Amino acid sequence: MDYQRVLDEMLHVATPLTHQGAVADYIPELARVASGQFGVALCLVDGTTFSAGAADTRFSIQSVSKLFTLSLAYRLEGDALWRRVGREPSGTPFNSLVQLEIDHGIPRNPFVNAGALVVTDTLCSHYAHPSLAILDFLREISGAGDVNFNSAVAESEAGHGHRNAAMAHFIKSFGNLATDVDAVLQTYFQHCSIEMSCVELARAALFVANHGVVPHGGKAILTPLATRRLNAILLTCGTYNAAGDFAFKVGLPAKSGVGGGIVAIVPGQLAICVWSPTLDEYGNSVAGVAALEHFSALTAHSVFQ
Ligand code: GLN
Repeated sequence: MDYQRVLDEMLHVATPLTHQGAVADYIPELARVASGQFGVALCLVDGTTFSAGAADTRFSIQSVSKLFTLSLAYRLEGDALWRRVGREPSGTPFNSLVQLEIDHGIPRNPFVNAGALVVTDTLCSHYAHPSLAILDFLREISGAGDVNFNSAVAESEAGHGHRNAAMAHFIKSFGNLATDVDAVLQTYFQHCSIEMSCVELARAALFVANHGVVPHGGKAILTPLATRRLNAILLTCGTYNAAGDFAFKVGLPAKSGVGGGIVAIVPGQLAICVWSPTLDEYGNSVAGVAALEHFSALTAHSVFQ
């Protein structure tokens, strides 16, 4: 497969779309990011890397971080985690509160904000410095020792994060947060604010394509079974209430974020990350989804073979 040609064609298809949609502005710092940008990077499990466009530009990973916090929590908690968070697609926006009351404070899945807050809570229980533990994990698996938080973004979100705060308090009222609400929120805003490039995110996600093992160094993050399950949750829940449409168009497990990044996995083969800041109504990158649809069409990579 000539992946460089594939990525160049994705860049070609995506570039005219990079002004469609809108940059996330409910986090004021994110509204400052310029539209018109697109990057893509692909890492094979043997470490070979291909890229096109702004693949080395760092952006706010936002909810893509939830792939990594879930991996850490699943490793620490095992299947006990599923007593506190479900595995069903929500069919509601990522920041919706409506199901929480009906579901008695058990979020539908770990990728909607409510579920990610519970996942972050488990990390707050396990680590003295949970934000640093998440950052260290990302530095280790991406091989980029200077990956960091963007404190302006974290503070901006904290200053406008009333919905997430309401959600965290609501979950706490059902007894499904063990640690301090403000500490959970602070840790959540911090890990969402981490900045990485497409190349760094594709490399960091390689263990999800490689049966749970980081190819460079050989460290096992998750068991092969847990990795298959993680991929299943990515496929069904990773792009929120657009997950059905994304599965139809792209057919790969993936995680998106409102910074405009999307990481997708071809199990056993590769991880790919696209980035373009303008979003559709579901909070997924317009050009990013279109580029991945083109990737799937060109390569026939899909879990639905
Ligand atoms: N930090 C963002 C929030 O909590 C993440 C949302 C996202 O990327 N979908 O709203």
